[in-house]
Amino acid sequence: MKVPLALMDEILVHAREEFPNECCGMVASKDGLAVKVFPAVNAAASPLRYEIDPMEQLKIEEEIWDAGWDLGVIYHSHTRSDPVPSETDRNLAFHPDSIYMIIGIAGFDREVPLEEQKPADVRGWFIRKGVSELAEMEVV
Ligand SMILES: [Zn+2]
Repeated sequence: MKVPLALMDEILVHAREEFPNECCGMVASKDGLAVKVFPAVNAAASPLRYEIDPMEQLKIEEEIWDAGWDLGVIYHSHTRSDPVPSETDRNLAFHPDSIYMIIGIAGFDREVPLEEQKPADVRGWFIRKGVSELAEMEVV
């Protein structure tokens, strides 16, 4: 999956806005290239888990299908731990063909200038039948 820098920035901004809660959203893709970010509300409003409201998820998925795109990425942030799928993440992953992107921003401090902070650690995963493996992602 190739992710244009501008789209990755949108996701990072979303993750920082929601910190210390987890953010979540989806990214449409076409032929392996990310084309549009759909930020969603974390209905759980929690630093430990995320939950995309089913109605909002449906609305986004319909827009993606109507445009002839794929649901390329489902993203959320980890604000206290490494960007590795948790047991809950693995158990609740129902899209074997989408990349589960996790934005690791543990230690983020909105009072400190960004350039003085550790960059976000972003990793993509395929999660199939409860098992996760790293997916290739490239910012272009
Ligand atoms: Zn998670």
